[in-house]
Amino acid sequence: MNEVTISRAIIQSYMKDLLDSMELDVAIVGAGPSGMTAAYYLAQAGFKTAIFEKRLSIGGGIWGGGMMFNKVVVQTEGKGILDEFGIASTKYQDDCYIADAVELASSLGLLSIKAGAKIFNLIMAEDVVIRENDRVSGLVLNWSSVPIAKLPIDPLAIRTKLVIDSTGHESEICKMVVKKVGGKLNTSTGNIVGEKSMWVEVAEKKVPDNTNEVYPGLIVAGMAATATFGSPRMGPIFGGMLLSGKKAANLAEAMLSQG
Ligand SMILES: Cc1cc2nc3c(=O)[nH]c(=O)nc-3n(C[C@H](O)[C@H](O)[C@H](O)COP(=O)(O)OP(=O)(O)OC[C@H]3O[C@@H](n4cnc5c(N)ncnc54)[C@H](O)[C@@H]3O)c2cc1C
Repeated sequence: MNEVTISRAIIQSYMKDLLDSMELDVAIVGAGPSGMTAAYYLAQAGFKTAIFEKRLSIGGGIWGGGMMFNKVVVQTEGKGILDEFGIASTKYQDDCYIADAVELASSLGLLSIKAGAKIFNLIMAEDVVIRENDRVSGLVLNWSSVPIAKLPIDPLAIRTKLVIDSTGHESEICKMVVKKVGGKLNTSTGNIVGEKSMWVEVAEKKVPDNTNEVYPGLIVAGMAATATFGSPRMGPIFGGMLLSGKKAANLAEAMLSQG
């Protein structure tokens, strides 16, 4: 073992993973709770799935719980997913369970990788490929350090049968589609409607409801679905995020099975 062996091992194994991911069944943008949950179910079902995450770390908004208290709250339905994933939770009161944010973030990452999904951190989606009758058919990717350093570096692109936008509040992929094709999203306005102020009971239910194909080839999940379809925000309760990820995976599976 010497320096060159270590470097070769890293470069070759990374390049193999990246080359293997040039053509995917599902490309997920954002490794928050909804994106990683979707990745787990899709990879488990045998679909070729990769997540592109612009930050150094996975987990999105999980780690900070509520106001940096690293605990997450889920309702009974969300607890079903925690149980399925073997993530510990305790009952606080009826329909209110509490789990450790660090355990949730790390478990979702581990489970999705073990199921067969690839996670590429430090890579951002900066655009979409739109082909074949106005369908999202790929992602344009770059290192997330490129815009930070203001470097004029061209991106690379991958092809994918479906994209899941799980980029959180910013709903970045939906915004890119609106910018490129105008207001043609499957929302009340055709555009990003925008997140409303906090209303937990309504918002939690709406996250899975809003998890839909928002443009041909593009499913939106998690807080991105809330923002895109214009529902209230819900504060630091994460059950809806997990249920949304599961619904996004179910939708993708149904669409891919139809061919
Ligand atoms: C200001 C603020 C307000 C919040 N308010 C609420 C609230 O009202 N209700 C609530 O439940 N939670 C809130 N949260 C917490 C948290 O965002 C969510 O609960 C939860 O983490 C959202 O999950 P998600 O799966 O939708 O995406 P997130 O956890 O937000 O993860 C999205 C991931 O996508 C990545 N990403 C974004 N764009 C790109 C791109 N172009 N390419 C690659 N990766 C990308 C991000 O780096 C991030 O890791 C808030 C967080 C913040 C910062």
